[in-house]
Amino acid sequence: MRFLLATHNKGKVREIRLALSKFNIEFDSLAGQGHLSQALEVGSTFAENARLKAEHYYQLSGSPTLAEDSGILVEALDGKPGVHSARFAPTDKERVEKLLRMLDSFSSPFSRGARFVSAICLFLPDHLIEVTGEVQGELTREPRGTHGFGYDPIFYYPPLEKTFAQLTTEEKNKVSHRARALEKLSLELAGRATQSGRIIAPMK
Ligand code: IMP
Repeated sequence: MRFLLATHNKGKVREIRLALSKFNIEFDSLAGQGHLSQALEVGSTFAENARLKAEHYYQLSGSPTLAEDSGILVEALDGKPGVHSARFAPTDKERVEKLLRMLDSFSSPFSRGARFVSAICLFLPDHLIEVTGEVQGELTREPRGTHGFGYDPIFYYPPLEKTFAQLTTEEKNKVSHRARALEKLSLELAGRATQSGRIIAPMK
């Protein structure tokens, strides 16, 4: 079975491919689909945006489409940047710097707690699967680590005593918000494969 992976983010593509590698699924990326117009992410929740993207690219391509919307919610900023995480500043580096600068400007004690949220929507011809995952952590005072993407260098995960950028993709894929959402998706896919005895059955 072939799925269209509705993202241009290479970090997400790497994590999603690895998490679903036990299934007989081939992924087409948006990179080879330059003719498709871009989806508008105008929803007010991650789940709404994931569904908007999945439906948009499904309608254009006619292929089963997997879309993911995610972001970081910072406690001291009342959950910002949230669904605006990608538009918070032009580049990953600038987004990280802006977030750290905003926290540095606070004078009284405040929480450095933050949470990543991932919403995934899989648009199939006869079915829609929607799942979410979350992970709680803390923002560091400066970037640490070179792996991952986005806010990973400042997202410290206490159980492993490392930032997400200090983890390999395999390690991050055991604990991240996206990994948790993908785990739920895997269970749904495995259930459907069992019901229909079809193609997407996990390989041994
Ligand atoms: P989206 O591509 O519209 O879902 O935007 C997601 C935003 O949240 C981007 O700025 C990403 O860099 C950030 N983000 C989402 N997931 C992660 C992650 O696993 N690590 C670091 N940043 C992330």
